[in-house]
Amino acid sequence: MTEATSNSNADDQSEGQADLETIVSLAKRRGFVFPSAEIYGGFAAAYDYGPLGVEMKRQIRDLWWQAMVRERDDIVGIEAAIITNPAVWKASGHLDTFSDPLVDCLNCQARMRQDHIEDDTCPECGTVGKFTEAREFNLMLSTQIGPVQDESSRAYLRPETAQGMFINFENVQTTTRKRLPFGIAQIGKSFRNEITTKQFIFRTREFEQMEMEFFCYPEDSLQWHEYWKKERLRWYYRLGVNPDRLRLRDHTAEELSHYSDATSDIEVQYRWGWGELEGIAHRGDFDLKQHAEHSGKSLTYFDTDRNEHLVPHVIEPAVGVDRILLTLLFDAYAEEELENGEKRTVLHLAPDVAPAEVAILPLSRNERLGPTAKRVYDLIRPQFRTQYDDAQSIGRRYRRQDEIGTPLAVTVDFDTIDDDAVTIRDRDTMEQIRVPIAELANKLRTRLEELRPHVPEHDEINV
Ligand code: ATP
Repeated sequence: MTEATSNSNADDQSEGQADLETIVSLAKRRGFVFPSAEIYGGFAAAYDYGPLGVEMKRQIRDLWWQAMVRERDDIVGIEAAIITNPAVWKASGHLDTFSDPLVDCLNCQARMRQDHIEDDTCPECGTVGKFTEAREFNLMLSTQIGPVQDESSRAYLRPETAQGMFINFENVQTTTRKRLPFGIAQIGKSFRNEITTKQFIFRTREFEQMEMEFFCYPEDSLQWHEYWKKERLRWYYRLGVNPDRLRLRDHTAEELSHYSDATSDIEVQYRWGWGELEGIAHRGDFDLKQHAEHSGKSLTYFDTDRNEHLVPHVIEPAVGVDRILLTLLFDAYAEEELENGEKRTVLHLAPDVAPAEVAILPLSRNERLGPTAKRVYDLIRPQFRTQYDDAQSIGRRYRRQDEIGTPLAVTVDFDTIDDDAVTIRDRDTMEQIRVPIAELANKLRTRLEELRPHVPEHDEINV
């Protein structure tokens, strides 16, 4: 639970990046992310995703699922319950040790994580060196199940999805007959009673995780850890995250959990410093052993070749969907000055993570154009994530699509009625080409393919 941030990098790639307020404001103005329960004055560190935000989140999840499950023979998916038997959290260690050290400022009474304080100075009031002793604060959110409100009915909202994979190890193994090495993946909500929740959706109490537990022979585990470091970095290239703002950082011996032989974080350079985007942890055999001991069930793997039972070791890449979305917004945001002196705000999102791939824009809201534009829309929307917009001037609509990151806009004008051709406008270059409607889908597909980021081969990744 350490805050992996520092400002020590000399080659600061965050320069020129938008500040947080700009991103928060765009997110709200355009419908990516709203403060939760805004009509009631909001609710600390809770956010609701708007129409564009949910499209982006869906894409992020799908791309992860595609890379981690569908394109692989060695990983399968599950969805475990968010609220499960509290014995799980006893065994995993979360009930006893999942905590952050908390202190209060003696001057302004602000409460904060001890490891978030820099230079012994209160971030709220600037007082130096006046804090209470640190107390361990458990991060699990609890609730009551059933009609009786006492300790026996207490249950917890999961603080990570990982344990769902461990407690289903046996079920998955017997139903899929997977041989080592194999992985179990899951996407779903997790909850932590975080104390410091600044930086928008970077750290919230309710968030969504994408985690995969990769079970392997103990002797191969360090090699698999190396493999997943590269493979996961590679996935961020696929999303279009600027490689210069990404780095891998191996945990120091002091940072490592007692059961871990190696853990690395994929970090991103934000305006406030480097921050963890994804953790790639070597969890050894800790979790399976804990659950075997606490449940009394044997959670081993029978190796038919060696004729022996063994407890596999585990490599776990774990990331939050919300944090990826924030990273993508930061990375894509640009304010540009056009040749005619006008300014535009643009999100240079890769096509696969943009809320829409194509916008259909009739030149004006005109009776003659409407049916033709709708015909083009009906042709395109089953094949691409498409928006239709006919409000206000065409210039303003281009600006609006730029601002939400739509890579291609198709303009339907009065000539279209006669020549059955439309204009494709490119978000990044603003170049326009005229194409027959009959060729439109193919042209869009080709152009989107060209816009997809180059993804190096696994062996070409340097870590
Ligand atoms: P941190 O040090 O930032 O609290 P952590 O090391 O506790 O994170 P993990 O338990 O490794 O985080 O969780 C894996 C991933 O889940 C993180 O890399 C992050 O992307 C995401 N994540 C964790 N906590 C939160 C949160 N409160 N809000 C949003 N995303 C989160």
